[in-house]
Amino acid sequence: MKASIRQESKEIKQSAQKLFEQTYDWTNQCVQCGYCLPACPTYASMGRESASPRGRINLVKMAAEGKIDIYEHLAEPIDLCLGCRACEVACPVGVPYGHMLEAAKEVIAESQSKKEQTVAAMLKNKALYHLFPYPRRMRMLGNLFWIYQKMGLNMLIRSTKVLNKVSEPFAQMEKVVPIVESPLKRLRRGTTYPAKGEKKIRIAFFTGCIMDAMMSRINRLSIELLTAVGCEVVIPEEQNCCGALHAHQGAHEKAIELAKANIRSFEDSGAEFFVNNAGGCGAALVEYGYLLANEAEWMHVAKEFVKKSKDISQILVEYGPLPFKKDWDGIVVYQDSCHLRNVQKVYKEPRLLLQSIPGVTFVEMEGSDRCCASGGIYNFLHFHDSMKILDNKMKKVNQTNATAVITTNPGCQLQMSLGILRHGQSDQMRSMHLVEVLADSCGFE
Ligand code: SF4
Ligand code: SF4
Repeated sequence: MKASIRQESKEIKQSAQKLFEQTYDWTNQCVQCGYCLPACPTYASMGRESASPRGRINLVKMAAEGKIDIYEHLAEPIDLCLGCRACEVACPVGVPYGHMLEAAKEVIAESQSKKEQTVAAMLKNKALYHLFPYPRRMRMLGNLFWIYQKMGLNMLIRSTKVLNKVSEPFAQMEKVVPIVESPLKRLRRGTTYPAKGEKKIRIAFFTGCIMDAMMSRINRLSIELLTAVGCEVVIPEEQNCCGALHAHQGAHEKAIELAKANIRSFEDSGAEFFVNNAGGCGAALVEYGYLLANEAEWMHVAKEFVKKSKDISQILVEYGPLPFKKDWDGIVVYQDSCHLRNVQKVYKEPRLLLQSIPGVTFVEMEGSDRCCASGGIYNFLHFHDSMKILDNKMKKVNQTNATAVITTNPGCQLQMSLGILRHGQSDQMRSMHLVEVLADSCGFE
């Protein structure tokens, strides 16, 4: 008994020491001014200091000093953070909140695995380590979902409400998953696509794991748009999941492993730019330099990789214009992807592209830069907290009379679809990826 208590207290000290080494300097940068508080969606929704960036920074600092227990007192406030990084943009002294958050998550994940394993944590780990990093398994998941939809099992499941009894978040999200493309259509995808007309540039396209399995139509349309503005598009075959979910969930080593696999695969492509269409993935890709900063043989190549990584909207603006063929009548609002805006600092280009579509009435929505609370898998792990933030977002959407909410990230797109469904507006409003609305107006199907 005494030996196990001694062992536990040794582990607690080691965790606090690791937290201290990784985060203490950053926590000391915070001058407690509170400028980040109005930018924080969880603080606005939950109204307590421990749900604010400043509160979380102070808790990390106290845990690193060994004044509070990592598992008992830090895990929940950190887990309730969306990781949207709006606080970073608002901070006048540049506290690197996102890096602190990921370091804290890594230490918390280690301390949790020593304490107890909930069913949700076990499922999350299974997905992180045994599903997302395996493109073939992800494709299989997409194929299974296609069969599920094709056989009408989705309708059966919904009418019997059986999924509600298992998991409310799964039951709700299942309703908004778009129609998955057939396995045959996905098999037909090539590895090189010539530019239409004069070739201006060669780009390598990042397909993503969830995007490619469940929303491969958006990838197909992305390739059409890119070739239409003069890009030769190659799809590196050995590419993998970007590792964003791993980094956000404290699986730091796995994130590093995935980063290295992607860098190898893309550097071999001979492309001038590496282009993605998902804000969350893109943010992970541009952070490879930080992720590999301590590895001498990777540091330089990771920095080069980051320089070449671009969101599709940047390429379409730079090499456009797009060959629009028809008017796209409707009022559209743009919901920023937090990671595209706050990490990649891309927010003008999606708006410019939307404004360039013939017939579109673009309306800037109040709070468009504020998180929709999709947060990777936050809406699965903290469904009710997420829905509270989403319902507030829908109030802002409704003030605009929008007919379409445009996003640039698969998670945001599903979350906004759920918001539209929850508010009974599916008949007059839809949620679309930027690529879909651009492609539609160009006549691509
Ligand atoms: S990352 Fe987002 S949710 Fe988390 S503390 Fe910062 S602003 Fe709040
Ligand atoms: S804005 Fe920056 S310095 Fe001010 S409280 Fe927030 S994190 Fe700390």
